[in-house]
Amino acid sequence: MKVAIMGAGLAGLSCSVLLEQYGVLPDIYEAQYKIGARFTNGEAIMNILDFPVEDCFNYLDRKYEVKLNPINTLESLVIHGPKDSALIEGNLGYITARGNHPHALEVQLGDISKAPVFTNNYYTIDDLKAKYDVIVVATGNSNEPKRQRIWETDIVANIIGASIRGTFNPHQAEVWLNDSYAPQGYCFLLPYHNNIASLCIAVPGTAGVNLELLWQKFLESLHFEFNVKDTFTLHSFEIGRNKTLVTENLMFVGNAGGFVMPFLGFGQFTSMLSGFEAAIAIANGNMQSYIDAMQPLIDSYYPSLKMRRVLAGMNNNKYNLLIKILQNKYANTTFSKFPIPILKLVANVIDPFIARNSELN
Ligand SMILES: Cc1cc2nc3c(=O)[nH]c(=O)nc-3n(C[C@H](O)[C@H](O)[C@H](O)COP(=O)(O)OP(=O)(O)OC[C@H]3O[C@@H](n4cnc5c(N)ncnc54)[C@H](O)[C@@H]3O)c2cc1C
Repeated sequence: MKVAIMGAGLAGLSCSVLLEQYGVLPDIYEAQYKIGARFTNGEAIMNILDFPVEDCFNYLDRKYEVKLNPINTLESLVIHGPKDSALIEGNLGYITARGNHPHALEVQLGDISKAPVFTNNYYTIDDLKAKYDVIVVATGNSNEPKRQRIWETDIVANIIGASIRGTFNPHQAEVWLNDSYAPQGYCFLLPYHNNIASLCIAVPGTAGVNLELLWQKFLESLHFEFNVKDTFTLHSFEIGRNKTLVTENLMFVGNAGGFVMPFLGFGQFTSMLSGFEAAIAIANGNMQSYIDAMQPLIDSYYPSLKMRRVLAGMNNNKYNLLIKILQNKYANTTFSKFPIPILKLVANVIDPFIARNSELN
């Protein structure tokens, strides 16, 4: 069977690695000059968002026999509201390296894969369709699904970020909720060493978002010492869903399959899962079984979107209230110990609750 994979990112390389376990060597087509040739950053994989999987890296190892390593465990999360902060501690998940970093997840997957990677060209489905039995679209964006008319956008995010040098707790992430520099969005800090971290703002909006202005305001608000190393900007990063994951001989995985969870824009674990499951379906000669395998993730998309919309509907008063709730030791324990049912519950309950209580501040 001849398989082409478009995109040597997390989903594409996961698919390749598993296909190779089944004795199928795909051809990989990558737009950049090498695997991981993008900005370097730290990202999080949070157990709380991946229930019922308790430990994402153990799960990948046990279920698919693919051993990958994060950079660090994530043991605490500080959430800063406009007035106050809350600290959540526990076995929260992992911090990973991405992009052009020697331990980036895509670099680790690339080291395991033996498939040939044809680089330096933005391929289209039409370039490859005639030559292959199956094409796995793993381009990390909505361009190809849009061309196939199967894509529906839910959120358009704009992201500005940088690597910053300073002194950090490598097991702790920080989030800022403040509508003066992250309207309807959030800012976060993720250290990927004790002296280097990713600092980002992610805000929604299709036009008129002055990211540079928000960035300056955010940087000025920070009360710790740091130097900005390099900055990147991503306009119009689309989060959405495909009406189907399989059409004719095409399979859509990772972001191109709609596997970014809208709540916080997390998509690493889901992208790898989709790549692995697509490979199993191809190897079993039943591409449609990929859709069944992904159903639990497809089902968790809407609660996640709902949470995202709740967050987007909040203002500084509501952020202050949320911080008060999180400072409560019972809420804190609940969030860190009993993951996603709580998130689903919160998705249903938090909106009217916060609306009712916003006058508390
Ligand atoms: C700034 C930022 C922070 C993030 N933080 C987190 C986080 O903390 N936690 C989390 O879980 N997720 C996070 N995400 C999301 C996560 O990075 C993605 O969901 C994940 O990388 C998607 O994997 P993928 O394989 O679909 O795409 P990618 O890993 O992006 O890979 C796509 C590959 O396809 C290539 N490509 C593109 N077009 C073509 C083409 N036409 N032909 C050939 N190759 C092509 C690209 O060059 C790239 O190598 C973040 C995303 C961003 C942008």
